[in-house]
Amino acid sequence: MNKTASSERRAHVFCIANQKGGVGKTTTAINLAAGLAAHKKKVLLVDLDPQGNATMGSGIDKHALQGNLYQVLIGEQSVEQAKVRSESGGYDVLPSNRELSGAEIDLVGMEQRERQLANALVSVAGQYDFILIDCPPTLSLLTLNGLTAAHGVIIPMQCEYFALEGLSDLVNTIKRVHRNINQELKLIGLLRVMFDRRVTLQQQVSAQLESHFGDKVFKSVVPRNVRLAEAPSHGLPGVVYDKSSAGAKAYIAFGDELIKRVKNF
Ligand code: ATP
Ligand code: MG
Repeated sequence: MNKTASSERRAHVFCIANQKGGVGKTTTAINLAAGLAAHKKKVLLVDLDPQGNATMGSGIDKHALQGNLYQVLIGEQSVEQAKVRSESGGYDVLPSNRELSGAEIDLVGMEQRERQLANALVSVAGQYDFILIDCPPTLSLLTLNGLTAAHGVIIPMQCEYFALEGLSDLVNTIKRVHRNINQELKLIGLLRVMFDRRVTLQQQVSAQLESHFGDKVFKSVVPRNVRLAEAPSHGLPGVVYDKSSAGAKAYIAFGDELIKRVKNF
């Protein structure tokens, strides 16, 4: 390896995934990106969901894009061409809109169909400290592209009764991808979100998680906080919209915890 290559920045690439819908993936992706940016890290947020929520929540109009992730996945544009700056968040976004739903069909006929995102990100991995991938609520070919491109998975979850059951499907998928496609992939950790300590059941599930997964459970806990829910309608990450809110503080603390955790890699 030559000197330039070895001294280059190489991004940690993490998927934010959970096949369950509405569990806080996008909120986590946006606020972690902004939280890491606040810690002076260079971040690219990849919106791998045709809903385009990570794009809109970063203050970027998904209806007025010059390029988007769909064109990158089918090889019509480079990441450089398609990426946009989130001025409010202080990070770059590889944006998406409903056009991306067509990628599922276009990719099927392609060679290395699960590696398109991984291949596309190679050229920019040297420019960032972190690349965060906001996955859709499915275990689809799009999500498989995310898992193939990543070094690790961060799973946001609500401490509800069925949460553990759904988790085993995802953990098995991660194991299968690790075994068959991407040996670098591992579970980075579970993040408890929308947490309400007054609810006994949530405390119980949280304790169960800790006993099953040990230190794979992040110490930071994100409370249910209305400011986080309001922020996307202003095109702002919650950590920017109301810095002093409990939700913002939790995501900043989570960014801190993640930075410390990756130092041990
Ligand atoms: P999908 O599966 O549709 O992609 P998701 O897992 O990305 O959903 P989000 O969109 O982040 O989930 O969150 C679902 C809803 O919950 C949103 O309205 C969001 O604003 C709200 N929400 C997320 N986290 C919190 C929180 N900590 N406190 C209050 N509301 C939250
Ligand atoms: Mg989402």
